[in-house]
Amino acid sequence: MEISLASLSDLTIKAVEETKAHKGKISSYQKPESRPRSALFHVKESVLTQGSNHFRTSLKGCWRRTEVITLEDESINGMEVLLGIFHDKPPDPGSISATDVWYTIQASHKYGFDPKDTKPTLWFDKWLSWATQNRGKEWKKDLKFISQLLFPCFYFDHAEGFQTITQRLVYNSPGRIGENNPVPSVAMHLPPILIRKSTLPAGLYKEISATLHGTIDDCTANGVCSYLKELQRIDVEPLGNTLFRNSVADILTRLDDFDRKNLIRNKHDPLMPCSWCSRSWTYLIESIQRRIRAYFDGLCLDCLRNHPDENSTYWDRELHREAYDGEWDSTCHISHGEPTWYFSFNRRRERNPYYESR
Ligand SMILES: [Zn+2]
Ligand SMILES: [Zn+2]
Repeated sequence: MEISLASLSDLTIKAVEETKAHKGKISSYQKPESRPRSALFHVKESVLTQGSNHFRTSLKGCWRRTEVITLEDESINGMEVLLGIFHDKPPDPGSISATDVWYTIQASHKYGFDPKDTKPTLWFDKWLSWATQNRGKEWKKDLKFISQLLFPCFYFDHAEGFQTITQRLVYNSPGRIGENNPVPSVAMHLPPILIRKSTLPAGLYKEISATLHGTIDDCTANGVCSYLKELQRIDVEPLGNTLFRNSVADILTRLDDFDRKNLIRNKHDPLMPCSWCSRSWTYLIESIQRRIRAYFDGLCLDCLRNHPDENSTYWDRELHREAYDGEWDSTCHISHGEPTWYFSFNRRRERNPYYESR
C-alpha cells in the first residue's frame, strides 16, 4: 500500500505492522488475508516537525541519513489516520472503526502529537458525528460500542461526547460501569472514575426508612411489608442485589408495573387515615422515576481535570453556592448539576501517562 499525503512530498514513512499485536484484534473492515504488512506514506517533513516533538528531534538526528524512515510495530490504519489528519487528508470516516481510532491515539501518543491541537480535535468531532449518525438512534443502546468511545472522547477532549457516553453507561450498564479497550495495549485507559449507582436504592428505601423512625402500628407494619413485597414482585428489591445486577434504566421501567392495589391497608375511619395510608403511592413512585431520570448529567471533562489536591478552590462547596448561586458548571464547557460535579470530585489519583502528560 502506498499513500501520497502531500503533492510535494520530501519524506517517506514506512509503517510495518506488528502481526502479534493485531492477532484477534483486527479492524472491522479488514480481513486478515487482505491486511497489508506494511505501507508507504509520502509526507511533508515540515508538517511532521511542526506537529510532533518526536519527529522534530529524530529528523535532526538519527533519521537524517535515510530517505525512507521505517517505523516498526505500527498499525497501518492508525498511522494513515494520524498522518492524514496533520496533512489535511484523513481517510474517509466510513473506513475508520472505533478500533482504528484507538490505534490512532496509540500512534499519536507514541510520536508526541498533541491531541488538543485544532486538527485532531476537529477530525475526531467529524468522525464521532459520522460514527454515531451512521448508526441512527441505536448507537446509544450499543453499550460495547459506546464504551469503546469513552477513552477517545477523553483523549480528544470531546466534552459533549464524554458527557453523553458516561450518562448512557450509568443508566444502561448492568453491573459495573467500565470502558472497553479493543486493542492489545493496556497503557491506554481513562483515569479511574467512580460513578456509583446507589441513588436509586437510596430513593426507594428512603420512604420506608423515614417511616421506621416513627411509631410502628399494625397498619404501618403491614404497609411496609406489603411495599417491600410489591417491589419484590416487580423485581426491584431495594435491599437485595437486584439493583446492582441490572441497569438503572431497566429498574425504572420495571417500576411502571408497581401496583398500589397490592399494598395492604388496615380498615381506618376514612376521615382518619394514618400517615402510611394517606400516601399517594402512584405519585411517589412516579416522582422517584422522574428524579432518578434527571439525576445524572454525565461526567464533565473540565471537572475531571481539576484534581482536588491541585485546585481546592474549584471544589470549594461554599464558593460554588455563594459566588455562583449554586451553579456547579459555571467554569465548564457543558451544562450539568451537582451530581456530576460531585462524582468528578470522588475519583482516585491518576498515574496514567496518557492523562498526566497533558
Ligand atoms: Zn393506616
Ligand atoms: Zn464541570
